[in-house]
Amino acid sequence: MKYCPECGNILISGIEEETAVNRCSNCSYIDWNNWVYVACVVVAFTPSNEFVMVKLKGKEEGKITFPGGYREIGETLEEAAIREFYEETGMRINNVEFYKSYTLDKLRLVWLVYQTKVDQVSFTENNEVSELLLVSPNQLIDRTFLRGRLTEGLYNDLLSKWEKQGSF
Ligand SMILES: [Zn+2]
Repeated sequence: MKYCPECGNILISGIEEETAVNRCSNCSYIDWNNWVYVACVVVAFTPSNEFVMVKLKGKEEGKITFPGGYREIGETLEEAAIREFYEETGMRINNVEFYKSYTLDKLRLVWLVYQTKVDQVSFTENNEVSELLLVSPNQLIDRTFLRGRLTEGLYNDLLSKWEKQGSF
């Protein structure tokens, strides 16, 4: 940011709590330069001890990730997770439980991962996803298709969880 969002005066660099910040030259506003995008992501486990991934359409055609997306203003994080899961799979879930968070500073991205269980797996065509994939140690996917670092991180964590406890 170049100008203060509170009063419009120019921001100047400074130090605050040993952190480089931009401070307003007029009022007390401080730009901590730590904003992030928050995405709500869902890991859904099936009765056969698999988890659900999605194959993307469009500009990331063929890439594989977990269902999820950005929270909309007015939603709780859980509502965003439930909505995104529905939009990308067609499956309705009622409960999600916080699982783990991941951060990727280069993209200013935070993933909040929620877990849930689905009784029955189904898929409804939509704009974002071409196919659902059910993953387990017996049905792994080719890692070169994983969408990015956070997808890989969560994928690896789930598989090491299986290695430790023999299930998800
Ligand atoms: Zn100001």
